[in-house]
Amino acid sequence: MSDKTLCPLCGEGHLTPHTDDMVIEHGGQQGTVMLRFAGCDACGSEITGDADSRANKRAVLAFRKSVDSLLTGAEIRALRDKYGITQDQAARLFGGGPKAFSKYEADDVAHAVSMDNLLRLVREDEDAFWNLVAIKGMAAEFPHRTARPATVRPPVIQFVMLVSGAEAAQPVVQRRPIPYRAPHGEINATLQ
Ligand SMILES: [Zn+2]
Repeated sequence: MSDKTLCPLCGEGHLTPHTDDMVIEHGGQQGTVMLRFAGCDACGSEITGDADSRANKRAVLAFRKSVDSLLTGAEIRALRDKYGITQDQAARLFGGGPKAFSKYEADDVAHAVSMDNLLRLVREDEDAFWNLVAIKGMAAEFPHRTARPATVRPPVIQFVMLVSGAEAAQPVVQRRPIPYRAPHGEINATLQ
């Protein structure tokens, strides 16, 4: 039993991990989250250590984000992967501070609704993402990618044939060489 943690309260028993479902409420909605703690097999104390506390906080926050219709940490991570950008680049593109995306993706912090709107926009619209890259002056960091202009189209070139009356009167028959391979290997014979 040496791999078990000694109880810090009684100093005799050992701690065993437990989970317990807890009903919580947010925004008028109820949900059940699984909370972690450790129980002592001697004195019966229930202890929530640092790792348990972090996990519990994340479970509660994940529920609140789902109620608030915010992107989950996993969804934000997937968005970053889609464009192949680092957490640092994401922070400089979208704002939120240097450690923001590390916290968003770990469900340590709930991001603002305005941030959520921006992330959803660029998730759906690649042009919006690359335009933002250009606006933030970060295009040089993505030399292999360029924003595809959404509105600029190549000009339509129209060929207008102006024909005088005399020229139009006579049918134009042109001779031009048509490359082809003859049965005996002769190339570029002229078809007439
Ligand atoms: Zn104990």
